[in-house]
Amino acid sequence: MAQSTETTDWVSRFADEVIEESERRAPGKPVVVASGLSPSGPIHLGNLREVMTPHLVADEIRRRGHRVRHLISWDDYDRYRKVPAGIAGVDESWSEHIGKPLTSVPAPEGSAYPNWAEHFKAAMTESLAELGVEFDGISQTEQYTSGVYREQILHAMKHRHDIDAVLAQYRTKPKPADAARKKQQQKPVDEAELEAAEGSGAAAEDDGSSGSAGYFPYKPYCGNCEKDLTTVTSYDDDSTELTYACTSCGFSETVRLSEFNRGKLVWKVDWPMRWAYEGVVFEPSGVDHSSPGSSFQVGGQIVGIFGGKQPIGPMYAFVGISGMAKMSSSRGGVPTPADALRIMEPQLLRWLYARRKPNQSFKIAFDQEIQRLYDEWDRLDAKVADGSALPADVAAHSRAVRTASGELPRTPRPLPYRTLASVADITAGHEDQALRILSELDPADPLASLDEARPRYDKAEAWINTHVPADQRTIVREEPDAELLKSLDEEDRKALRLLLDGLADHWSLDGLTHLVYGVPKVRAGFSADATPKELPPEIKTAQRSFFALLYHLLVGRDTGPRLPTLLLAVGQDRVRTLLGE
Ligand SMILES: [Zn+2]
Repeated sequence: MAQSTETTDWVSRFADEVIEESERRAPGKPVVVASGLSPSGPIHLGNLREVMTPHLVADEIRRRGHRVRHLISWDDYDRYRKVPAGIAGVDESWSEHIGKPLTSVPAPEGSAYPNWAEHFKAAMTESLAELGVEFDGISQTEQYTSGVYREQILHAMKHRHDIDAVLAQYRTKPKPADAARKKQQQKPVDEAELEAAEGSGAAAEDDGSSGSAGYFPYKPYCGNCEKDLTTVTSYDDDSTELTYACTSCGFSETVRLSEFNRGKLVWKVDWPMRWAYEGVVFEPSGVDHSSPGSSFQVGGQIVGIFGGKQPIGPMYAFVGISGMAKMSSSRGGVPTPADALRIMEPQLLRWLYARRKPNQSFKIAFDQEIQRLYDEWDRLDAKVADGSALPADVAAHSRAVRTASGELPRTPRPLPYRTLASVADITAGHEDQALRILSELDPADPLASLDEARPRYDKAEAWINTHVPADQRTIVREEPDAELLKSLDEEDRKALRLLLDGLADHWSLDGLTHLVYGVPKVRAGFSADATPKELPPEIKTAQRSFFALLYHLLVGRDTGPRLPTLLLAVGQDRVRTLLGE
């Protein structure tokens, strides 16, 4: 049974607050938390915080035995705004669909899914399953086109003057570039600036617009061309008769809104309507939403019209990515959660979100930093196991490795990521070799099968293959460097001899570590077991130059994977040959 980690971290403090607020608003009902995602293209890894923040809080609430629903609203009835760059199976002809609902746009060529939105939802859904995120997905296309929100739409139309009055407070003020954008649209800065430079079109689309017939918070999709380039030209409150004209194709029709299901509330009205409809108590949003006129702030003023209350809505800070420049730009260089899960286990990704408060930004590493991160994670894992970790760290660890439903699948033998990466680097896909090397790491308890090191091994291998540039890959020399060997002085030769003589007795990760550090000590007249305190500082210089010599002889470069790992990877016979024995 998963244990509660009450009041030890930010997650539990939010859980306290959310449970209390939910009891006040809807006694005895399940707690409702929410996220919103727009499947307008690949869902950016940065947007995962939109889901992870409420997920962690919902999971804590569930651990405490309360009923909780985590809604993910798929904003798939939003308009298709633009054709994203670099999507396989998509060309410029997709621009003819701009203005249609995302569920009415064809999926990329070759997709197994019926439309654009479903295609991009599927990838995200798969990643969320791997991350252990339980949720109720709500398709806004389904909600709107089946008439679920009919009463709310009629209500909003009836109170359009009140809504207009709220929005009017902000219309005269110049808006910050980001304020009108939807909350989870986290994008690289240059792209955000580009959109801001496009002008105020997006802002008008978010809060509705006033034509000669007045302000309407509702926009029909055209009955002929399906686009939202429509203007409401008249509306009768009693009959609910609505007339609209399409500025794109010229089509016009009069419908009865009490039975019409092809349109939606504008974003700034849609969002608070859903808070009220679902009884959402907790829903975070991105940092730009504290600004006057932002959708969260305006929503707080509009939600009352629908008889609801604004949720507790912490702002979350930007999540950056390091090392993406080196990544293939085949998909426009946009990393998705699936890209992260190819190179790291779900536990590690969950931990990154759990250990930082939502208002703290952090980076997800696709570069060398991932190795350091994994070292840190393994140290924490060990501290939790021996009971020496601090309470907040124990909480973050617990949220990373399990949910209220149980433990996430773990790698049975979690060998160090950097070792696995080095082995994958050197063996270049030869699994039998990889197994041999990994078994020699700890000869007393050898690996029986590579599967024991999976899936971590597969993640490290994927990282080496996709994120380490070719000039940093390790290529073991085929032949000894005869010239370098010939040029060695007496001291270097003696050091190599000492190493070669010790190989057989030290053939394990620990043994070789002791040996490679020990050789320069012994050559300087000290014991191989001497501690740094007993040694002069020059020893460090001697060790560095000895290591550089070994790297040159083995891989023809100054540096490489850690030497003990490299030696194991190269294998004893080949090491002897390359070192000139
Ligand atoms: Zn039309």
